[in-house]
Amino acid sequence: MATEQTKFSVMCSLFNWTQRAKSPAKKRAKFRKFLDSFCADRNFFPAIRLVLPNLDRERGSYGLKESVLAISLIDALGMSRDSEDALRLINWRKGGAKTGANAGNFALVATEVLQRRQGTASGGLTIKEVNDLLDQLAASENRAEKTQVLSTFIQKTNAQEMKWIIMIVLKDLKLGISEKSIFHEFHPDAEDLFNVTCDLKLVCEKLRDRNQRHKRQDIEVGKAVRPQLAKRVANAAEAWKKLHGKEVVVECKFDGDRIQIHKNGTEIHFFSRNFLDHSEYAHAMSEIIQQNILVDRCILDGEMLVWDSSLNRFAEFGSNQEIAKAARDGLDSDRQVLNFVYVAFDILYFGDTSVIHQTLKERHEILRKVVRPLKGRLEILVPNGGLNSHCSSGEPCWSFIAHNVDEVEKFFKETIENRDEGIVIKDLGSKWEPSDRSGKWLKLKPEYIQAGTDLDVLIIGGYYGSGRRGGEVAQFLVGLAERPSPNTHPKRFISFCRVGTGLSDDELDALVTKLKPYFRKYEYPKKRPPSFYQVTNHSKERPDVWVDSPEKSIILSITSDIRTIESEVFAAPYSLRFPRIDRVRYDKAWYECLDVQSFIELVQSSNGT
Ligand code: ATP
Repeated sequence: MATEQTKFSVMCSLFNWTQRAKSPAKKRAKFRKFLDSFCADRNFFPAIRLVLPNLDRERGSYGLKESVLAISLIDALGMSRDSEDALRLINWRKGGAKTGANAGNFALVATEVLQRRQGTASGGLTIKEVNDLLDQLAASENRAEKTQVLSTFIQKTNAQEMKWIIMIVLKDLKLGISEKSIFHEFHPDAEDLFNVTCDLKLVCEKLRDRNQRHKRQDIEVGKAVRPQLAKRVANAAEAWKKLHGKEVVVECKFDGDRIQIHKNGTEIHFFSRNFLDHSEYAHAMSEIIQQNILVDRCILDGEMLVWDSSLNRFAEFGSNQEIAKAARDGLDSDRQVLNFVYVAFDILYFGDTSVIHQTLKERHEILRKVVRPLKGRLEILVPNGGLNSHCSSGEPCWSFIAHNVDEVEKFFKETIENRDEGIVIKDLGSKWEPSDRSGKWLKLKPEYIQAGTDLDVLIIGGYYGSGRRGGEVAQFLVGLAERPSPNTHPKRFISFCRVGTGLSDDELDALVTKLKPYFRKYEYPKKRPPSFYQVTNHSKERPDVWVDSPEKSIILSITSDIRTIESEVFAAPYSLRFPRIDRVRYDKAWYECLDVQSFIELVQSSNGT
């Protein structure tokens, strides 16, 4: 059967089966059978782009994340926005139905809603028709147009088919089979070819015959290549051990947009991690690249950031989205204070050869020759040069060759103090490999918890304020509970952090008045803290007064900067950066305090790769 004439319902059966099957070998075998039976004309792209939607760049972006998709579906189904089902879609994270079973999976919550409105019979769409409609969806410029296309989809599918359409639009099918396995089952050279071209259509067209091997292809100027990645490590000691005996460079991990610059004469591309060419960067940077890259053809690897020339430092733009938004809005061009700055940390192609097979140390040398740095616009990240040459004493240093683990540790701590993203530690003898995350590059990031998470902690001590608040408690030492045995109350509290801001004067006065009768002075080193508090000997932790019994104390809800830090000052394994009191929880009992283990689980679940 020709691929394009195959019914989409056949693909849905493949998806359903793959999702349910446990054995990876069986999943692969089923996929192979599908290719052989339903793509008999070997026109694989129309089908494979639906299996790997996140790698398909032909259609660009749909501009439909869950929240917008929810509203578009509500409109497409003609529902009132405050109906029960509409709210279910809008609040998809909380889950649908009464059990909340599908919480966090938008497509499943949507299926619940669709099942009540769509028939069970297949709509009969072919793969070609689905692709045509998806093209229309991507090309439509506003929400009304998108809603129209979604409404056509709804008319021509059943709820199961629509579920998979939604997954394709969200670019994540959750099939439980890796992209690697899909590539390998398709053709043994597919992954390699994709890694150096980022072109799924080309891969499908060039590798029609599974038995014909494809000569390993090197990278080319003008074709995006999948970036080398970093493996996460827990601490500096682990990184040092992993790279034992190697010459190691440690770099600041910049928080911008990973961009490859491909220069071919006057033609310049700015490819992001999802292989898209960013014209907004071209507009701002092309001339600088032309003038300061001293070779006709090359590929640079690096990070696009924003430079604030009034403050003479990288602007705190934080996330890539904000940078992209700033780019769309034209940055702050009136004052000419903010500009894009490209920090090149690697070079992949030079003149007419790929240099990814050379060592990082050699590539750094090439980088020095090829790029003429221009402060605040174009920088290179190499040890003893480039960005570092701006560093005078007191200014941050961005990269250096480390000789021992203590130097790595110290640099990491400094980056956290600067609120940077962390550090990247690289083997200077390694080559650059597309899509590799095997550990040639390691990353060390501060642990964080989701911004806005409220933590209920117990006040265990107080610090006197100064000035107007002199002699009165103005800040608190708060603790986490040691996890109690089931059905009992906690017996010990572990010092967690010091918090002072967030309350109005009146709120603070009320709180201090309530606690005052229980404050006990503490004179170090004579008097030991009460035995139900676990504390360290660190002088910064010592409060002026202790709450003499946890049962008399009060719970505070605190929030913080998204980062937590490893704690040396306090007894809990992590502390918070810039904590703030959200509110005083007079409504909670002292024993409803968050326990340490739950907090650690919260931190771990917030941290990804
Ligand atoms: P993360 O969310 O930690 O950035 P990721 O999956 O996007 O993870 P990783 O490969 O794990 O990417 O981490 C490396 C990323 O860090 C790169 O994609 C790049 O954007 C960024 N980065 C910042 N500074 C550097 C640097 N000096 N060297 C390499 N990558 C850097």
